[in-house]
Amino acid sequence: MEVVNGIHQIKVPFPKGLSGSTNAYVIEGEKGNILIDSGWDTPEALWAFREGLKAERLKFQDIKTIVITHIHPDHYGLAGKIKQLCGARVAMHRVEAGLIDSRYKDSAELIERVGDDLKCNGVPQGELLDLKNASLWMREFVTFEQPDIMLDDGDSVGNGSFEIQVIRTPGHSLGHICLYEPRKKLLFSGDHILYETNPVVGCNPQSGDNPLGDYLSSLQKIKDFKISFVLPGHGPVFNGLGLRIDKIISLHDERRKEVMRSLDSGLKTAYQIAQEIVWKAGGEGAAFDSLGPWNKRLAVMKTIAYLKLLASEGSAGSVEMNSVLSYISRE
Ligand SMILES: [Zn+2]
Ligand SMILES: [Zn+2]
Repeated sequence: MEVVNGIHQIKVPFPKGLSGSTNAYVIEGEKGNILIDSGWDTPEALWAFREGLKAERLKFQDIKTIVITHIHPDHYGLAGKIKQLCGARVAMHRVEAGLIDSRYKDSAELIERVGDDLKCNGVPQGELLDLKNASLWMREFVTFEQPDIMLDDGDSVGNGSFEIQVIRTPGHSLGHICLYEPRKKLLFSGDHILYETNPVVGCNPQSGDNPLGDYLSSLQKIKDFKISFVLPGHGPVFNGLGLRIDKIISLHDERRKEVMRSLDSGLKTAYQIAQEIVWKAGGEGAAFDSLGPWNKRLAVMKTIAYLKLLASEGSAGSVEMNSVLSYISRE
């Protein structure tokens, strides 16, 4: 689909068993095409990408630069294969590049740290191994390598026809970037802002200390941009960036209050609070205990992100007892 003149969206399907797709964008230019994001590394995804290019009358070999918004497997996974086919140079924020090796290459230490964090936040021994290992399956869907170009906030990437500006938006991932095209007023938002879903913001060993605080600041950073269309990493293209940001902020406010209410009845670990919250699964409200290991782990990590935000604001504090952190309201 040609979203605007010279900018094409290609939907790249998730692996079998997962519903959804990644939006990849090809920006045509006199000096070669720029690809923003790729998809999971599966044969089906690569074929769908090829079919998408063909339908838009585009060619692999015209792609000269691949810009990755962040290194999650649904955005970065397929970049290595596409690079093999077109010789393009891969670009991403240097902070994000710094996360690649520990996440995909030598991940044993990272997995141990995830396990330690979960244990320290009250996940019981019986569930610990399942939650700790819940992301291991993802690694087979990524061709990992270091990027050719390190980007910084304020850099731009051009192809003679379009010039896109790099805006660092940490939160969903520490080195996440959005790409802003000032001439047509487009924002390629990656997973920073989606229309139909609220991007996951959770604490993990790679997220930084206060990812939700970072995320909310990153929303403010782009809120006043005059944007005609937001081109997100998943779901529909939309306009009304400010309204969408207001909605996302209000959802976080509600959840933040829910976490504070839970702290009204005593000291609790992040795991205990996560058990009291109604989460979403498949668009429906779901009790914590009904979630699978991956969603349980996300729920705990999201809860920790709220608690860290509340701690940074002075509303909550934590104390360590027998190597487990308990949170308490300071209000
Ligand atoms: Zn993501
Ligand atoms: Zn994504």
